[in-house]
Amino acid sequence: MIVPCGRNDIAAVMCGADVTPEGAPVSLGDVRLLAPVRPGKLLGVAKNYADHAAELNEGVPEEPSVFSKLVTAVTGPSGPVIRPAYTQELDYEGELAVVIGRRLRGATPGEAMDAVFGYTIINDVSARDLQRTEPQWTRAKGGDTFAPMGPWIVTADEIADPQNLRVRTWVNDDLRQDGHTSRMITPIAELLAWCSQSFTLEPGDVIATGTPAGVGRGFDPPRYLEPGDRVRIEIEQIGSISHEIV
Ligand code: MG
Repeated sequence: MIVPCGRNDIAAVMCGADVTPEGAPVSLGDVRLLAPVRPGKLLGVAKNYADHAAELNEGVPEEPSVFSKLVTAVTGPSGPVIRPAYTQELDYEGELAVVIGRRLRGATPGEAMDAVFGYTIINDVSARDLQRTEPQWTRAKGGDTFAPMGPWIVTADEIADPQNLRVRTWVNDDLRQDGHTSRMITPIAELLAWCSQSFTLEPGDVIATGTPAGVGRGFDPPRYLEPGDRVRIEIEQIGSISHEIV
């Protein structure tokens, strides 16, 4: 059940705004879930799993390779994800996403986890052809609907160890990714601390923590997304998101 609380700004709630239940509870089946947050910043990490770097025939970066996705790419967990005419190589990346709840700047890894509000699921949708042909990934990673997110935020107190979660992605009925957050090259605490040396993380910011092996480009021949395909990403202790490509 969903309990209405008269607020639609989760970042304000993170900052201590009062949350008072109002009205009758609503059944989950009677609502369409939107993205649980509109991030101020939406960041991603390239090649944060060694098996994914290997399937791309690329090495593992010595430092975290952090990039920005445009926040206008964010859409709800049910999508749809629009494949633009300018790409023929649309790909999925199932990822654990960290939602920041407290301002974080110049933090150590030991301090960083206190700033985590919770966790959600994201598909870091990527146009591989544009990643090859354009030096910046703004379009390749930032197209409208390239960041379906949800289905909700599980607060940090509910997840004992975010580095101990199975991550799976299906395309239609085909299991493509079966990874585990224990295999991240740079774990979440180090990632947040590293980011916070360069820029301030603020309540509502979201960091997608990288994808395990099994993306479409990793197959020979590659298996990119086509209109009509349905992507489903499931992460232990969070739930799943599922969206169609149109
Ligand atoms: Mg990614």
